[in-house]
Amino acid sequence: MSSGRPIKTLLFALLATAALFGQDFRAGVGRALITPSTPVWLAGFAARTKPAESIGLDLYAKALALEDGRGNRVIIVSADLLGVTREITEEVARRVAQRHGLRREQILFNASHTHSGPEVWPGLRVAPVESAENNARVKEYGRFLMDQFEAVIGQAIGSLQPASMSYSFTQARFATNRRKEQLAELRPGEIFPAPVDPRVPVVRVSGRDGSVRAVLFGYACHNTVLTADTNEISGDYAGYAQKALENEFPGSTAVFLILCGGDQRPAPRGSRELAIKHGEALAADVAKVVRGEMAASSGELKCAIRETQLRFQTHTRESYVAEAQSSDLFAARRGRTMLEAIAGGQPIRSTQYPAQAMALGRDLVLLALGGEVVVDYSLRFAREYPDLKLIVAGYSNDVMGYIPSQRVWMEGGYEAGDAMMYFNQPGWFTPDVEDKVTEAAHGALKDIGFSCHTCESRKGK
Ligand SMILES: [Zn+2]
Repeated sequence: MSSGRPIKTLLFALLATAALFGQDFRAGVGRALITPSTPVWLAGFAARTKPAESIGLDLYAKALALEDGRGNRVIIVSADLLGVTREITEEVARRVAQRHGLRREQILFNASHTHSGPEVWPGLRVAPVESAENNARVKEYGRFLMDQFEAVIGQAIGSLQPASMSYSFTQARFATNRRKEQLAELRPGEIFPAPVDPRVPVVRVSGRDGSVRAVLFGYACHNTVLTADTNEISGDYAGYAQKALENEFPGSTAVFLILCGGDQRPAPRGSRELAIKHGEALAADVAKVVRGEMAASSGELKCAIRETQLRFQTHTRESYVAEAQSSDLFAARRGRTMLEAIAGGQPIRSTQYPAQAMALGRDLVLLALGGEVVVDYSLRFAREYPDLKLIVAGYSNDVMGYIPSQRVWMEGGYEAGDAMMYFNQPGWFTPDVEDKVTEAAHGALKDIGFSCHTCESRKGK
């Protein structure tokens, strides 16, 4: 080898190939068991009558760390829980900033919204129980969660190894729009659209030897195949799907993200057998994608987070006085909380809201929104960013209530605002909720270099 030229050419060819197949990444994973000890009240259904005493499926917190060739890092944390709360995610982010030097926007938290997991301090105490003893227990579990999230992030960063990343999309069909029956009762005779979003994004992370190290996938559907009657700890369909994928690809970590499934529920539902059936069917479709041709992801990892304030409709003290006396535990709790806030001179008028954007390469972008986001949002952003491979997750970084679109807000009902009581929030959002959420999302996407073309052309008209 006397001439430098062939070496240079060879080097260039190798680098080009590496870029093409996205092999300029490093990836690491972490996992912790977060199954609470029994008996424990499960959160999500007001109709439960007793604590759960059995474990159908263990609950996990998992983390996927990604690093590009320039050293930019992002961490995706997911958990089999009803949701994550700002109090927990901000504290974990603070610790991770100290220990690993990561900024807040580099860490994304998503929880599957399983209704067969424990209550989450402080905003997701959605179990029909109110006692000092139970509150102390839920608070203690919150502290445990913070430690576990911190640990899985540390594991993921500590296990970073050369990796390639590729992606594709498939579809699932077991989600239905659950507002149909509700609206038929609420406003009989009228016809309502009942959109669903069947898209299932799949991201494969492979080691240098080609083995599957992680599979990131998502679906817009409540994890409520198991109902109040089953009353056992479980990750529901998403838990069974992750388990099936990890069996299919030994040594891999499957990470589920719930997308904009605020108004989506599985059908049929109501038993462990059905949760297994939906989970395994979803896993089989995802596995087929993982084994097939996928587009290589290459380029930089980028991230940004925007915060906005979502306002609540004005409310008066009088409306809560009666509520505080209610025999309904959730109504009474909300009434008391609001009266205390008013008495303290700080009535609750708005809530903070996070919208996070993460580019996992050149055109694969994860938009992570807080709250129980209805499906209209993912359909809207897909229209607004036709050039992007966009994954729109809900239930990310905080769950403060349902996030209705303007259409859902106008239609009324549970997701429009009636459910706010269960989140201990004062009432419905103001009708500009979709504008505010969208503005924050557009801002976060713009911060990482993506503008909404259809929005610009709309403004121009
Ligand atoms: Zn929900």
